[in-house]
Amino acid sequence: MIIRNVRILGGEPADIRIQDGLIAEIGPALQGDGDVVDGGGVIALPGLVDLHTHLREPGREDAETVRTGTQSAARGGYTAVHAMANTSPVADTAGVVEQVWRLGREFAHCDVQPVGAVTVGLDGRQLAELGAMADSAAGVRVFSDDGKCVSDAVLMRRALEYVKAFDGVIAQHAQEPRLTEGAQMNEGVISGRLGLTGWPAVAEEAIIARDCLLAAHVGSRLHVCHVSTAGSVEILRWAKSHGWNITAEVTPHHLLLTDDLVEESPAGAYNPIYKVNPPLRTRADVAALRAALADGTIDVVATDHAPHPVEDKETEWSAAAMGMIGLETALSVVQEAMVDTGLLDWAAVADRMSAAPARIGRLSGHGRPLEAGAPANLTLYDPAPRTEVDPSAFASKSRNTPYAGMTLPGRVVATFLRGKPTVLEGKLV
Ligand SMILES: [Zn+2]
Repeated sequence: MIIRNVRILGGEPADIRIQDGLIAEIGPALQGDGDVVDGGGVIALPGLVDLHTHLREPGREDAETVRTGTQSAARGGYTAVHAMANTSPVADTAGVVEQVWRLGREFAHCDVQPVGAVTVGLDGRQLAELGAMADSAAGVRVFSDDGKCVSDAVLMRRALEYVKAFDGVIAQHAQEPRLTEGAQMNEGVISGRLGLTGWPAVAEEAIIARDCLLAAHVGSRLHVCHVSTAGSVEILRWAKSHGWNITAEVTPHHLLLTDDLVEESPAGAYNPIYKVNPPLRTRADVAALRAALADGTIDVVATDHAPHPVEDKETEWSAAAMGMIGLETALSVVQEAMVDTGLLDWAAVADRMSAAPARIGRLSGHGRPLEAGAPANLTLYDPAPRTEVDPSAFASKSRNTPYAGMTLPGRVVATFLRGKPTVLEGKLV
């Protein structure tokens, strides 16, 4: 197959020849047999890799399945996702991670790499079978109780020590539980005005500071999920200045949206579409997160794609589930927040959304530069069109997007997984 006339990382136009699932050749006016895809001058990026996806299977197939979640991922330009462990049953044994891994091999539109739970049942009391999950067919390297924080410092230390043996990483959902009991939205002026229980920045920052120190103490790898405050950025900058093995991610929604949407938005006040964990923060936080992603203090954009059925989301604020879907809008939101603002170029986007997450997750077949010999995992993206987000067009089973009706730039034109198109002309193959 030959893909004609694409601009790799936004550079000069070139053709890409794909053979046996690999990039065989890159250059001008390539010759060869087989199918031809006309790229029409759009941008070619390495296939995106998500470190933080909730596929909901097993247990909540009414919200998402491996099939629909990975279809959603492919439409967003992803060729691999890490499937979070807070399923039902929890992915805390070799059996469950292998089940998710097998579902991925059978039904997925992109590669599915299961994340293992840190503690049994995510209950924060007893370490799960980390070694058995690492040794399983799923080859787990990322462990997380995401949705919950590993708040016990002794348990967190043991987990960090344990995963060193197989080059694993603990991905922490940093939320001090006592400081966030009943918390509903960012603690600040607006939570005070709306009478909603506040979620203080310090609840995130205290855990990040503690975990950076623990990771340094035991010499292990720590990854911080969905960083949301300016203070967290300062702590990470300090920790990284010591050379500690710490990485961090930010979600697209924390790069674009702010807590004042809870008070006033086109969707009305108290609309639970904006209820998310960690909560949307202030404009100052958003500015700090953007700067941190630009300077590399934050390594990765991860979606925290969190599908919920309508009945769990369209209810009163305090009863509504936390989370928003994000796979199909991630690249557009990153373009809006980071590229069109001049903070990142396309090469840096490829780093934050493909190379860095693949490296942290130890996915050797993903995140490679687009060059001869690399697996043909790539995304064709047209940054030019601006269109209104239409959730009814999503492949996800859920519709809880905060961007419905918003106009965002860009469109994923095609996605290729080991040379096979999963999306062509914006549509699933
Ligand atoms: Zn989380």
